[in-house]
This record gives sequence, structure tokens and C-alpha cells, in this order.
Amino acid sequence: AHRVDNEYDYLFKIVLIGDSGVGKSNILSRFTRNEFFLESKSTIGVEFATRTLQKPTFDNVQRWLRELRDHADANIVVMMIGNKSDLNHLRSVAEEDGQAFSEKEGLSFLETSALEAVNVEKAFHTVLSEIHQIVS
Ligand code: GDP
Repeated sequence: AHRVDNEYDYLFKIVLIGDSGVGKSNILSRFTRNEFFLESKSTIGVEFATRTLQKPTFDNVQRWLRELRDHADANIVVMMIGNKSDLNHLRSVAEEDGQAFSEKEGLSFLETSALEAVNVEKAFHTVLSEIHQIVS
């Protein structure tokens, strides 16, 4: 059948939440426009990276999740993303810890890199297919 670009069968809303600086805007721009922004040069590098990769962003996931479950519709699909996997040498959360947390909470989990375009596509496809299964 003929289908022009602005026609679709489903329209799903995806909301990216998490601490500031974890890469939400860039995950979105990578997925929608295949673009990545390093922002300002002064924030590139180890100094900035070590700061953003400290444990709190992972610890705060628990709070984000509680907020979601308190206020969002009960049948929403939630997925956890560990972004900046390209900064593996600065990692402060082991992949197994992210995996274990996600399993405990019943969430899908992927590590992504918006910078290197790793798993971003897959993350969106995972969450979209989970939503699709619920609504169809
Ligand atoms: P937000 O506040 O969660 O929307 O985060 P941003 O998307 O604005 O990203 C914050 C900073 O992290 C920016 O300097 C980005 O260039 C950087 N960043 C985002 N994603 C990645 C990634 O996958 N790898 C690396 N190395 N840096 C990233």
C-alpha cells in the first residue's frame, strides 16, 4: 500500500527522564536526526566526564522511578538506559549492577552511547515494541 511519510498507524509518546547531564537531549537528537552535540569545548574531557559519571545519577534512578510510579499511568512502559558507554574507562556503575537493578524493578535495560550511536536505535525500538504489544 502507498504510505506517505506523515501517515502512521500509531503515535506513541516517549519521555526521557533522569538527572541533568546524563545525555537525554543527545539520545533524542541521535535518534530523531542522527545528530550529536558536544556543547561547549570546555566541558569536553576527563574533568567533565568524571563529574558526570559519578554514582549519583544511577542512585537517583530510584527516585525518578518512584516519581514515575506515583504520578504516571499504571500501564506505562519504563526502560532504563545507561548512557555514555563510550566512556567505559571512567565507568562508576558496573553493567551487571544496572542489569540487576532493572531486573529487580521489571524494566528493560540497555547501555547506550549517543556519541558513538551505539544502542540508541535499539533502545527506542525496544520500548516502542513493548508499547506496541500492550496496545495491540
Ligand atoms: P541532558 O541534560 O540529560 O539532556 O544531557 P545532554 O544531552 O545535554 O548531554 C550532557 C553532556 O553529555 C553534553 O556535553 C553531551 O555532549 C554529553 N553526552 C551526551 N551523551 C553522551 C554520550 O553518549 N557519550 C559522551 N561521551 N558524552 C555524551
